[in-house]
Amino acid sequence: MGATRREFLEAGAIIGAGAAVAATAAVTARLDHRTTDPVGEETVRHIDVLPSVKPSPEEDVLIRMQRDLARAMAKPMEQRRWVMIIDTRKCVGCHACTVGCVAENHLPPGVVYRPVVTEEYGEYPHVQMRFFPRPCMQCDVPPCVPVCPVHATWKRPDGVVVVNYDRCIGCGYCITACPYNARSRDLGEYWLDGAAEADTPSELPILGQNAPWEKIASNEYAKSWDRTKGSPLGNARKCHFCLHRLEVGQLPMCVTTCIGRATYFGDANDPDSLVSELMAAPNVIRLLEHLGTEPRVRYLI
Ligand code: SF4
Ligand code: SF4
Repeated sequence: MGATRREFLEAGAIIGAGAAVAATAAVTARLDHRTTDPVGEETVRHIDVLPSVKPSPEEDVLIRMQRDLARAMAKPMEQRRWVMIIDTRKCVGCHACTVGCVAENHLPPGVVYRPVVTEEYGEYPHVQMRFFPRPCMQCDVPPCVPVCPVHATWKRPDGVVVVNYDRCIGCGYCITACPYNARSRDLGEYWLDGAAEADTPSELPILGQNAPWEKIASNEYAKSWDRTKGSPLGNARKCHFCLHRLEVGQLPMCVTTCIGRATYFGDANDPDSLVSELMAAPNVIRLLEHLGTEPRVRYLI
């Protein structure tokens, strides 16, 4: 779908006004443009979860979340409400989630979906540090959506804000509009840019500017994206809760790699899910709540 000139100017006006958070009405209007997302029965997935392992109150939270995920995927997409909860009391700031995400999505230099932000608090000498992993918040009122002049980004019925790399023109409006700094542009860099060429045939698979591991296509959105041929090179990129993994019954990579079991994921529409239980805790916060973006990511502090 092409954008009209008027729509383009409207998007520019929002940025020009310096609005990091667009008006709720504008967001709602643009959300209506979005979707070719399938809904209903065709989005249902039947996933077996560890059939030989009996549910137990003592089971690892990863196994419990795996069961929660399977129940959610057995429903049509529009009945799922994905949320993520991060326990800052358990996060040790190791960045395993950041690295796991880079590996899963084949992220190049300059593109990061899940940085871990360090905060110091308290007064000397009683100063402490805590860590806030910061994926895309999958806002329910996402300021990044209405500013896109080509409707390349929208919020799916299950709540995940996605980017259509084929449609994105890389204008960067959404990157500017996001108050969480959760989007970055793929500038086409590679980790081994400038590295020496491999000296011997045995070094070829791992070293040098043409090492094949850097050119592996990413599986985001359950498609194959080869940056050597185009998208997502030049596009805006962001966390998508590993939708391609959810489709096959796997939790988001950051959840499975977290050494502190500090990241929880699941369907808030399921009263029996772990995330529903945690969301009721009195110590739950959301970042920049006053902006009215309604983030789907919450923190336990
Ligand atoms: S956090 Fe995510 S959904 Fe919210 S404005 Fe930023 S990119 Fe959009
Ligand atoms: S992997 Fe877990 S403990 Fe390590 S930084 Fe990420 S959230 Fe924190």
